This record gives sequence, structure tokens and C-alpha cells, in this order.
Amino acid sequence: MAKQFDTIALVGIGLIGSSIAREIKDKGLAGSVVVSTRSDATLKRAEELKLGDRYTTSAADAVRDADLIIVSVPVGASGAVAAEIAANLKPGAIVTDVGSTKGSVIAQMAPHMPQGVHFIPGHPIAGTEYSGPDAGFIGLFKGRWCILTPLPETDETAKAKLRTFWETMGSMVDDMDAEHHDKVLAIVSHLPHIIAYNIVGTADDLEAVTESEVIKYSASGFRDFTRLAASDPTMWRDVCLHNKDAILEMLARFSEDLAYLQRAIRWGDGDKLFDLFTRTRAIRRSIIQAGQDTEMADFGRHAMDQK
Ligand code: NAP
Repeated sequence: MAKQFDTIALVGIGLIGSSIAREIKDKGLAGSVVVSTRSDATLKRAEELKLGDRYTTSAADAVRDADLIIVSVPVGASGAVAAEIAANLKPGAIVTDVGSTKGSVIAQMAPHMPQGVHFIPGHPIAGTEYSGPDAGFIGLFKGRWCILTPLPETDETAKAKLRTFWETMGSMVDDMDAEHHDKVLAIVSHLPHIIAYNIVGTADDLEAVTESEVIKYSASGFRDFTRLAASDPTMWRDVCLHNKDAILEMLARFSEDLAYLQRAIRWGDGDKLFDLFTRTRAIRRSIIQAGQDTEMADFGRHAMDQK
């Protein structure tokens, strides 16, 4: 595949940054890749995995010659990273990020962006519950959406280049305004994680049922929540703190609907329960039809057991 950028700087090389690094290398998308991360340990691991061509713990140093800079750190750290790199950004460079919240990232990063630098926030809707440079893999973004939340003044040519970059990695790309992104993600991603953290925490706190029973009988449903509840604590702390308004709005709706369900159970209203469960089953079918999950029963676990 053709080279798209002379130099790409990756600031943050965990699950997302290292997946991007692997794709760039695999597809020959850059003349040179500079990897930067704050800790010596992660940097050493990135080097062992041969994720780049040059390695540094200084984000400011990493971006010096870069045409594309991809910031892949917890959203709460994006302002500090922007402040650190600002003075060294090359005119004409594209700066993007992969953070799970967009309004807060824009508020933190945009004020630091110098004139002539194209800042185009982004968010690949792809991930796993694992973190760090070893967790990344080729194919993470394939068939998954990447949402760009350009600012009104964003340069169309720069946006088209970033769009092509994500498409080359196998993603479909949508544009959205940041506020809408944060509402959509609050319901499709943030709320499910919060509910999962909560249910797993509740099970852990129960006195009447032992922890060993929860684990032993988890295949009845509980274990499906534990994948989400095993997600990175730093990342999810930051998501909750940085998409506060949209998450609280969705949680209020959720609590209302839960009360409705609670009432239907209390009053033995089987029709209400049946109607809701029929409606939700159809949503699962739509997700499979849209190619966003496997149609194999039990998320394909049975097929994996046979391997
Ligand atoms: P990760 O695997 O935990 O890697 C985090 C990276 O950020 C590491 O290089 C880490 O450096 C660095 N970092 C951590 N705290 C930092 C700080 N305070 N200042 C500067 N650098 C810091 O995380 P990830 O899963 O790749 O997530 C990165 C971003 O992608 C987040 O904004 C997240 O919201 C977004 N995202 C995640 C997923 C997902 O499923 N995981 C999906 C889509 C988007 P050291 O290791 O050197 O400390």
C-alpha cells in the first residue's frame, strides 16, 4: 500500500496506539514512525515489539518532524500532552486523538494548537478489555466505525487525508459534532460499562451469595458483564469524569426505565416484560446484521472451545 505520511508520531502506545502502529507498519503508511510514551518500561516494550523507528519518552521531541500526530492517552491526560507538544508542531501537521470523549478533549487540546496546525479529533469505536502495547493487534479497526469530530474551521484536505488513513486501516468513517458524539457514546459505550462495573461490584458486595458461587455459576449471564467490567480503570475513570453531563443524562433515563421494569416485575405484568424482551432481542439481530458482532451463539465461545 502507498505511503500516506512521511513521519507519524504516536503519543501513547497502549492498546489503541500499538494497534495503529502495527497497522502503519503492515500497510507501509509512513516513511518513519516515532513512538512516545511517558514511562521507560512501556517504551522499552514498544521497542522490543518493534512498533516504530524511533523511540522517546518526550512527546515534545516525538512530534518535531511529524506530519501526523496521533494522541492515544487517557482523555484526562490530553490537555497536558497538547501543552507539551504545541511548540514543536510543524506547520501543516495534522494532530488527532482517539479519546473516548470528544467535548472534553477539544476543550483541553484546541487552545494549545498553533495556527497552521490541523487539529481533527477522532474516536475509533473499537477496543478490548486489555491495555498496554502487547494488547494491540492488526485488525482491531477492521469493519469498525471511526468517528471524526472536526471543528467548524477544519481544513477539508486535512480531514480527507485523515479519513483515508482510517479507511486504509479497515474502518468506516463518520463525521459528527462533538456534543452529539458524547451523547451517542454515553448510551452505546459509557452506560454499558458503568452498568457492568456496578453489577460486578454488587455481586462482589453480596453477603448472601459467596464469591465462589458467583464465579462458579457465572456462565448464566454474569460473565458477559465481567468482560466490560475488566476494562482499564484509568481509562474509564477519565471517561466518567470527562463525559459527566451526557452520562448523568443517560443514567437518569436508565433509572426511570429500570423503575418501570421493577414495577412490572412487582405487579406480575408479564405482557410488559415480554414486550420489552422482544424489542431488545430485535436490537441484537440488527447488530449482527450490521456486521458489528458474530452471529454465533454465545458470542462464538462454543466454537472457540472446539479449537
Ligand atoms: P492503554 O492501553 O492503557 O495505553 C495508554 C497509553 O497512554 C500508554 O502509552 C500510557 O503510557 C499513556 N498514558 C497513561 N496515562 C498517561 C498520562 N497521564 N499522561 C501521558 N500518557 C499517559 O490505553 P488505550 O486503551 O490504548 O486507550 C488510549 C485512549 O484510547 C484513551 O483515551 C481511550 O479513551 C481511547 N480508546 C480506548 C478504547 C479501548 O477499548 N481501550 C477504544 C477506543 C478509544 P505508559 O504506559 O508509559 O504509562
